Amino acid sequence: MPKDTLDIIAEQVRECTLCRLSENRMNAVPGEGSNFAKIMFIGEAPGRNEDQQGRPFVGAAGKLLTEALQEAGMSREDVFITNIVKCRPPNNRVPLEDERSACRPYLERQISLINPKIICILGRTAYEALLKGGSITSNRGKLIKHDNRFYFLTVHPAAVIYNPELKSIFKRDIANMVNELRKIESKKSPSLEDYT
Ligand code: URA
Ligand code: SF4
Repeated sequence: MPKDTLDIIAEQVRECTLCRLSENRMNAVPGEGSNFAKIMFIGEAPGRNEDQQGRPFVGAAGKLLTEALQEAGMSREDVFITNIVKCRPPNNRVPLEDERSACRPYLERQISLINPKIICILGRTAYEALLKGGSITSNRGKLIKHDNRFYFLTVHPAAVIYNPELKSIFKRDIANMVNELRKIESKKSPSLEDYT
């Protein structure tokens, strides 16, 4: 078997017809970033801008994510950014269970190739899909260890667009997460407890 790569996955995603979301997409959005990313961001699904460009988080939510990363001392090129489903659902509806599971193997392959130190879950859909979900409001800002991986949970940047009060919370979460990454890298114990 030839070695799996992110490029092979991206190629397969662009041609994928495993679920109905292939029917209305302009472009599938496999995800982008570093092969060696220490942090992997996982959102819900591509929106209109992402569908047009074939790239993740390029609209207003993406601008906010890029800004938060820069303020935390990182750039988009340092991380890997993708979504639970790789094609845009009609009218940005939440992706359905069968669509999520059809798309899941691509995400699993991306995670195992990149092997990030922290997976950053952006919002409710990714929370449900990856950690069975719960309340974002009470669990955001937490670093969680699950199946030998670190997950960090925060609000979806699109939610910040609708509720600007969340902006400083979101940015602080991202900065705290980068701080936790530094601890993990220097073999100090990360804070697995709640931030306030
Ligand atoms: N929202 C998402 O969840 N993903 C994107 O790529 C863009 C907006
Ligand atoms: Fe394939 Fe995923 Fe797109 Fe569905 S959402 S068509 S499974 S790439």
